[in-house]
Amino acid sequence: MMNSTERIRVMADGILSRLGPIVWVALVVFCAAMLGIVTRPLGFVAAFWPANAILLGLFVIRPALADLYGWIAAVAAFLFAGYLSGDPIVTSLWLTGANILGVACGVALSRGLHAEDRALRHPLSVLRMLLICVAAAGTSAVVGCLIAPVLSNFPLRAGIAFWFTTELSNYVVILPVLLTLPAVWSLGTVADSLVNFEPDAKTTMPVAALCLSVVGSVAIGGPGAIAFPVPALLWCSLTYGLCATSLLVMITSLAMLGAESADLYALPPSDDLLDSKTSFRLGLTLLAMGPLTVATISVMQRKLLARLDRAVSMDGLTDILARRAYLERSAELLARPRANLFSGVAVLMIDIDQFKRVNDQHGHAAGDAVLIAVTDAIAGELRRHDLFGRVGGEEFAITLPDISCDDALAMAERLRHTVERLSVKAALGLEIRVSISIGIVHRVRHPAGGVIEMLPLADAALYQAKETGRNRIVLYAAPSRTDAAGP
Ligand code: GH3
Ligand code: MG
Ligand code: MG
Repeated sequence: MMNSTERIRVMADGILSRLGPIVWVALVVFCAAMLGIVTRPLGFVAAFWPANAILLGLFVIRPALADLYGWIAAVAAFLFAGYLSGDPIVTSLWLTGANILGVACGVALSRGLHAEDRALRHPLSVLRMLLICVAAAGTSAVVGCLIAPVLSNFPLRAGIAFWFTTELSNYVVILPVLLTLPAVWSLGTVADSLVNFEPDAKTTMPVAALCLSVVGSVAIGGPGAIAFPVPALLWCSLTYGLCATSLLVMITSLAMLGAESADLYALPPSDDLLDSKTSFRLGLTLLAMGPLTVATISVMQRKLLARLDRAVSMDGLTDILARRAYLERSAELLARPRANLFSGVAVLMIDIDQFKRVNDQHGHAAGDAVLIAVTDAIAGELRRHDLFGRVGGEEFAITLPDISCDDALAMAERLRHTVERLSVKAALGLEIRVSISIGIVHRVRHPAGGVIEMLPLADAALYQAKETGRNRIVLYAAPSRTDAAGP
């Protein structure tokens, strides 16, 4: 049993070792709470309160942060923000208690989700996330409103409705952005694609339509205006990724909530359980479910198609292009005007020498290992735009765009030399060494028949390389008129 001094020391050690993440949680919650506080006068009233959703998102994507110290940091940040905003301490404790209990409910429920649900990667993920948001918002609203009458003459029924819808809309609008944020290690790729982004109609039209529909919803108004941006949001969700769609849903919702707070929709008064403003907010929140779900399914479908395309295009053993994909991509490459710019284009046919012997002496599995080692070694020597395919059992073809004849010969020599130096480990400590023969055809101008015309010529050169001793390179030379005429 630890005495109290030891317990305090263990706790202090824990705090010191976790200081970075604790400060991080406190800072994020404090900034989000201050954002909610300073935007109050801008017309959002208390309807914009991102702190709870951000805290929940943080604890869902980084579960390690949600330990005792993480929660203490969050409470401290809420209380400090409340103190700075001038709230009496009792009010601060009351609001913080309701906020923290709501987030705790969301964190506890999200622990039961699969990892793919936590990243919104399943068709039902958005609906599951909605249930968690409803539970978290409901907990905050009930706890907050049950304490409220003790502190003030807060109206219970309308209070719960207002608190619940406010919380829910913040959770539903902000949480998907956090859950779908790209991982830190892929931020470089994201930055690259943003830098290299070239706007075209296909990528800009959906977002332009979204802007127009939001403006239209304010300009036209009426109860149906809430749904005006839905078609454009659906278009966005079918065009962009999950994070971009979540971001657009959030920006659209905040813009419309802001416009509604500024009375731009001129909603008629309502005597129902929910007043017009609360009803508008709830409707807007639930409308976001559609585009988010479509984005989830669309991303899944694109990933599935990419996997299918890869399975069809790549050779299962060597992971280079399979025959058909090699021929199709070579045809596409050679059809581009830049492909043979300046220097020309070369096609290489490669065959491993005496490969049957490798199988006979070392077994088929060792033969497979040699095929993998040889293709890896060759692929390592190629340029980014070169195409490399397995066109037969131990036969490979390479398309080299924009290359001179001399450079193609030098490249072939490099490949031959690389494979010659290769040593593959076999059973009983034996080493397998192989060589390759290469046939090359080079064209300064684009051949009318593309790769289909060049491959048989490279194959004829390869045949000559085999005939004249193997482990060598032969450049295809068209038969001269006298050769063709024969003796
Ligand atoms: P050369 O080309 O020098 O004339 O002689 P070779 O022994 O390589 O001749 P050939 O092209 O007739 O033999 C190719 C051998 O490659 C026959 C086949 O057993 C083997 N092979 C084809 N595909 C695979 C494969 O996927 N794995 C393994 N281990 N062997 C394969
Ligand atoms: Mg062969
Ligand atoms: Mg062979």
